[in-house]
Amino acid sequence: MTTGRECLSLPCMQHEGRPVSTAPAEVRGRFAPSPTGYMHLGNMWSFLLCWLAVRAEGGAMVLRMEDIDPDRSRPEYAEAVMDDLRWLGLDWDEGPDVGGPYGPYVQSERLESYREAVERLLREDRAYPCYCTRKELRTLASAPHAEDAGPAYPGICAALGAAQRREREAEGRKPAVRLRCPEGTVEFTDLVHGPVRMTSAECGGDFAVRRSDGVFAYQLAVVLDDADQRITRIVRGDDLLHCTPRQLALYGLIGAPAPRYAHVPLVYDHAGERHAKRHHSLELQEIRRAGAAPEQVVGY
Ligand code: GLU
Ligand code: ZN
Repeated sequence: MTTGRECLSLPCMQHEGRPVSTAPAEVRGRFAPSPTGYMHLGNMWSFLLCWLAVRAEGGAMVLRMEDIDPDRSRPEYAEAVMDDLRWLGLDWDEGPDVGGPYGPYVQSERLESYREAVERLLREDRAYPCYCTRKELRTLASAPHAEDAGPAYPGICAALGAAQRREREAEGRKPAVRLRCPEGTVEFTDLVHGPVRMTSAECGGDFAVRRSDGVFAYQLAVVLDDADQRITRIVRGDDLLHCTPRQLALYGLIGAPAPRYAHVPLVYDHAGERHAKRHHSLELQEIRRAGAAPEQVVGY
């Protein structure tokens, strides 16, 4: 097993040379699993680094279930992820099982706040209804684990007038909602990758915050929840690096302070394939059944 980059020790992440005084006093991190499969070595690796980074600073850990994708989420996976985390000894202070001041800690119970946010974005004309086909929007609720955001939305519905919208509604077309993305480049400093610059087009252009079937997009839910739950450190796989500019745009719009990000390398197997749920590779449940001890898995 190798990682995509050589340098991934915690000191590395902390030596990044920015004044600590800009960070809020309380460090808060989160596990944000999507219960769409069993935990595998790949997500365990990101969770372990997240837990280490946050606990090393004396921070609090939050567990939030990201189950807004109704086609792919299953309660039994949520249970299994929590069970695997507990078995590994990666604990949390707030979560669906223990509660806490910023609950609920399950996204499917937070839909009202997403709804309000989308309504507000529409009201302020920061977002617009998009009548393009559902097919191209289908994957929005799941975190897009890919190298890039795909082709930028060409802005077809950005300038529709009220009459044109009524026309489409009259045809029975249900709109998605897209955010008007600020033009230009987004820049941020990642604790692992250093300075990152992406243009709005590289981030997919105007992105959807709600699908036409009413399901809220991962990008929206994750930002609203991280902001509400006062998350200050986000440690996650670097397959989500290309999502960060979109999420920062949302932080700007809702007027919440953005967290600091560490996008960590993914785990690859000997054949260079990443350990993704889709590959059903090395699930923790299997490793446990085979008799491994948590210390062995963490140590490995
Ligand atoms: N729930 C997302 C996933 O499992 C992670 C979201 C995030 O860390 O921002 O891919
Ligand atoms: Zn459209």
